[in-house]
Amino acid sequence: MVLNIFLIILTIILGLCVGSFLNVVIYRLPKNMSIAKPKSHCINCDYQLEWYDNIPVLSYIILGGKCRKCKTKISPRYIVVELLNAILWFVALMLNTNLIFASIQSNYIMLIVYFVVISTLICVAFCDFENMEIPDEFQIILLIAGIISMMFGDVNSKVFGFILGGGFFALFAGLYYLIKRREGLGFGDIKLMAVLGLILGFENTLITIILSALSGAMVLSVLAIINRKKNKEERSKEYPFAVFIVPSAILAMFVGDIIVNWYLSLFMIV
Ligand SMILES: [Zn+2]
Repeated sequence: MVLNIFLIILTIILGLCVGSFLNVVIYRLPKNMSIAKPKSHCINCDYQLEWYDNIPVLSYIILGGKCRKCKTKISPRYIVVELLNAILWFVALMLNTNLIFASIQSNYIMLIVYFVVISTLICVAFCDFENMEIPDEFQIILLIAGIISMMFGDVNSKVFGFILGGGFFALFAGLYYLIKRREGLGFGDIKLMAVLGLILGFENTLITIILSALSGAMVLSVLAIINRKKNKEERSKEYPFAVFIVPSAILAMFVGDIIVNWYLSLFMIV
């Protein structure tokens, strides 16, 4: 019990600190800036952040979301990413250590793989949203995570997940291009779905594809209605599809087994 509480607190604190680091990665990696140097500074006045300006969540709240020196507003993305990373790490810990569900076996190597996958996916979603691009560094980290996860899961399911994820999106992108004569899904989305297939396995990849397609279709049709009065250029602009893939994949990773069992149970009632 004491160990559990210690593990939970440690996970949340580490989750917040890593979340703080992810903010640096999300800002600097797409701009090809070094992640290690220089120290974090204000984009407006160049004020170098001291250690007490860098405490996750707390510094943001104490400073009221503004730079200590010039009072320029700091993007709420900083606190959102920190909290999101800590919350998702906490959920992964609870699911993976039998603290809530007994269905998932404790495996600390897989728990660390889940942590890495969650943090990488947060970066993928925010980079795609802000820059319409998924840096290859993230795809490589996810690929390595997928290969490690093959040691602990059903290898066949993972290989089929890889083929299904990459294949389905490649097919969709190809058909879309043939019909509409413009790019609907980027190559980054196809690669992302393939490596996620390796991590998630066949069934959870299927769930991810369905959830991301449904949520994407819903949000994009609402946007299309809002934008229908705007000019053609505005209407045909690209959308960051990884923003829909990432939450779907995390949901499938967490509760995919429960969704599959529930769906199968529908057919077993006589
Ligand atoms: Zn400033």
